Amino acid sequence: MKDFSGRKRILVTGGGGFIGSHLCERLLTDGHDVICLDNFFTGVKQNIAHLLDHPYFELMRHDVTFPLYIEVDEIYNLACPASPVHYQFDPVQTTKTSVHGAINMLGLAKRLKARIFQASTSEVYGDPQIHPQPEAYWGNVNPIGPRSCYDEGKRCAETLFFDYHRQYGLDIKVARIFNTYGPRMHPNDGRVVSNFIMQALRNEPITLYGDGSQTRSFCYVDDLVTGILQLMDSPKGFTGPVNLGNPGEFTMIALAETILRLTGSSSPLVMKPLPVDDPRQRCPDISLARDTLGWQASTPLEDGLKNTIAYFEALLASD
Ligand code: NAD
Ligand code: UDP
Ligand code: UDP
Repeated sequence: MKDFSGRKRILVTGGGGFIGSHLCERLLTDGHDVICLDNFFTGVKQNIAHLLDHPYFELMRHDVTFPLYIEVDEIYNLACPASPVHYQFDPVQTTKTSVHGAINMLGLAKRLKARIFQASTSEVYGDPQIHPQPEAYWGNVNPIGPRSCYDEGKRCAETLFFDYHRQYGLDIKVARIFNTYGPRMHPNDGRVVSNFIMQALRNEPITLYGDGSQTRSFCYVDDLVTGILQLMDSPKGFTGPVNLGNPGEFTMIALAETILRLTGSSSPLVMKPLPVDDPRQRCPDISLARDTLGWQASTPLEDGLKNTIAYFEALLASD
């Protein structure tokens, strides 16, 4: 529990992943004691290697589908593969991670009376018929498709969070995170930003799925982490769910063209089949985050892409 200095002990599940590693870093900078838990299914140790010598950082290899008995003041639950390629690799395990993982982390939070954050997702809206998506929208999700293990797993986790809140008075904070990008994305995770940048840097064809007219809204990871911390610091009664994302909306063709320009690459564009159930459009309505947390993303796409390109360039150079 809180040590004599008043320092909070904070658990970050999925702390070795893309977003989790940035969150661990920020929590340490803010003076907290961080326990980073990960089974390294998709996360890599390089993401947190620079934190290992920090006196208030601790790494724990553990799978959230198994119970966990430790003492902490706050929990951030991010453990779950997030890219379609990764979460469809072992879909049964993906649902178990979301559902059993949520039950275990909620059980832990209940025993400790600790505040707990859930990294939910814009995927709970499925292929949305309302645009942009406000939190009140219930979504349009296929329960039996290849994306369902992730979408329905995350929806069930939200249900569990709200039932633990109603039934046991748990202090919960639920964010619906929209597509996030930045340094430490996995170069082979199949997500659009990492794919396009790696392809551009290698002068390989840029793979546009479908005709590339589908849209996404991309939030830079630093902005997202600020939003997560502000949500976690909000008054007890405010549970969310709250959308966290950058409302700037781009087609995949526009994204490809921007990345080609910023990398100076001569890669050609090639069309590939559109994956099953690929949402046509996605854009957050962030009025709730703006009004209640005073948060909005501030990094323009081009600035965030430049940082991300520099990260992948360094990664390729070190290979
Ligand atoms: P990531 O794959 O980089 O990180 C997930 C981390 O969880 C990895 O380090 C992985 O090894 C770990 N993990 C997976 N299963 C685990 C298990 N059973 N036990 C312990 N650790 C486990 O993905 P990310 O992009 O950093 O996503 C983090 C969280 O944010 C996820 O919950 C994801 O669903 C959510 N999210 C991400 C985005 C995005 O655009 N990146 C959007 C919406 C929601
Ligand atoms: N749990 C855990 N750590 C704890 C407390 C609980 O991992 O400190 C797990 C345990 O596996 C339990 C689950 O969380 O089954 C749900 O806990 P809860 O107290 O809600 O239910 P119960 O113990 O009755 O199953
Ligand atoms: N996409 C693409 N080429 C790629 C990878 C993805 O055109 O090489 C498209 C994909 O079909 C989707 C969008 O980019 O429409 C975002 O895909 P991503 O996997 O990054 O995230 P999600 O579909 O979960 O939003």
